[in-house]
Amino acid sequence: MERLRAILRQIDGKGYGAYKELSGQRFAFDVFTLNIDHVQGDPFAPPSRAHVRIPQRAARFPVELFKSRSREVALRDWLLRSWIGALRKVSTRDGGMRPALMPGQEMLERSAALVDEESVEVRFLVQLPAAGRRVLGREAEDILIRRLPAAVHASLLFERVDGDIVKRHVLTAEDADSLRGMLDEAGLVAFVADGSILPRKSGVEPGPLSGGIPFRSPESLRREFTLPNRGRVTGMGVPKGVTLIVGGGFHGKSTLLRALERGVYNHVPGDGRELVVTDPTAVKIRAEDGRGVAGVDISPFISGLPGGLDTKQFSTLNASGATSQAANIIEALEAGCGTLLLDEDSSATNFMIRDRRMEALIAKQHEPITPFLDRVKQVYEEHGVSTVLVMGGAGDYFDVADTVISMVEYVPLDSTKEAREVARAYPTGRKGATAGRFEPTFGRRPTPGSLNPVKGRRSSYTRPRGLKTLSYGENDIDLSAVEQLVEHGQVEAIGQAMAEQVRSGGGDIRGIIDEVERVIGESGLDTLASRPHPGNLAYFRPQELAAAINRLRSLRITSSRD
Ligand code: ADP
Ligand code: MG
Repeated sequence: MERLRAILRQIDGKGYGAYKELSGQRFAFDVFTLNIDHVQGDPFAPPSRAHVRIPQRAARFPVELFKSRSREVALRDWLLRSWIGALRKVSTRDGGMRPALMPGQEMLERSAALVDEESVEVRFLVQLPAAGRRVLGREAEDILIRRLPAAVHASLLFERVDGDIVKRHVLTAEDADSLRGMLDEAGLVAFVADGSILPRKSGVEPGPLSGGIPFRSPESLRREFTLPNRGRVTGMGVPKGVTLIVGGGFHGKSTLLRALERGVYNHVPGDGRELVVTDPTAVKIRAEDGRGVAGVDISPFISGLPGGLDTKQFSTLNASGATSQAANIIEALEAGCGTLLLDEDSSATNFMIRDRRMEALIAKQHEPITPFLDRVKQVYEEHGVSTVLVMGGAGDYFDVADTVISMVEYVPLDSTKEAREVARAYPTGRKGATAGRFEPTFGRRPTPGSLNPVKGRRSSYTRPRGLKTLSYGENDIDLSAVEQLVEHGQVEAIGQAMAEQVRSGGGDIRGIIDEVERVIGESGLDTLASRPHPGNLAYFRPQELAAAINRLRSLRITSSRD
């Protein structure tokens, strides 16, 4: 620390480049070391990167808190939040230190905080201070030698933090993981605990709505589980098969589905959805007109397009609502999805239904679409893939639903029996499609060149632009319809995975995403990074990696049929 002080005093007032002397250096403080991983070239460049490592003999986090995978991820999530809170308190108005990513309501594995039996490590950004283009050594001293240790002491030493809060964080995640792990055997695709708060404050505020009506399962769907920490919990089980969520407008249907979408992740204590869990492979499907599609077999849904367009290997740079939704389903199945989540709000009507009158008016040979209505049962029976569908407008789905949940003023009721009776009393009279088996061809292989992240003179360029766009090589990948991405750091990590792992991979898309998952599982998120000690990566599912690859407009495919 004294050496750092001496350097900063010595370079005070010199040209900004003098900061480079810190690069790669390690400085010992009282209970930790500060490591400077990268020094920015000038005051306007992206900030410098550093990490702090505290040996466990000082940090003293009990092994109990990170002894399993589930607990470790949760403790790392907590450490990052604690660290960010402390940085906020010690930060100067014009920056200073900040994290490279911001956590939201979900507990994710992130590269910004690590823990093991040896040490605790946090990674962060520092804006090294300047006056014009001169080093402000005294100010740097204030940030790194006064504020930094204050933040470390306040947030990363077990003796200085509230142990009960840490414990609750870790045990909450463990319960959720355990519950999610019990779904399959219990014949469920999702579970919503009684008392959960599903609605959010607003479209842009992710916290629970205060005064939100707590969830209460209908008796007939109520299930009970015993969790390792909380013990007995009851709530609504969403069975495998085809489930409809029906009800009047504004009665909470989409809010329930949205909670299920997010149930693939664990939530922080106080979120309201701590015990809302979903099949971890569930994928939200929506229409996405305008997207590019590369060689996807959408023929189970769409065949005989005007102009003889091939739908067994359907490619377009501008999909329609129905073709995009069909492609989204086939791609999700290819990526190992076990549960499809759909909302009428974001679906293409002509993809979802075709009623008797429309059948009568438009001759079968002029309608290329086999609506989802005629396939949804098969998708379950032949492939074991369930569907949860919000549908307030088309009762035709009563014929194919195994379970019907109706939302009435935010309260779910089991309307399965009534819906069956209604279906008997009012037959739709539809002929329906006679479409044969549901057998899409998978096994698409990206041509290696088509995943190239080259941009101009840079051999690899990948950069997230918020949550919705990933700049990749010469292309921008539009991720706005990939609704289960929740954090910037996931997009960052997906970009790195595509550039570093996928490109070298070969094989088909399923093989590629499985391999990336295996590598991360074995060696951690850090393996994705092009530089040491990245602080900006967050866990993503194989399904979202596939979604990003599939939306790359330069993607070209060869398949087993070629
Ligand atoms: P639907 O899809 O049935 O039209 P939404 O799910 O969009 O309805 O919900 C309509 C509104 O009701 C939203 O503003 C939502 O935040 C609110 N809401 C949903 N569930 C609850 C609840 N349990 N308690 C209070 N408000 C809720
Ligand atoms: Mg809705």
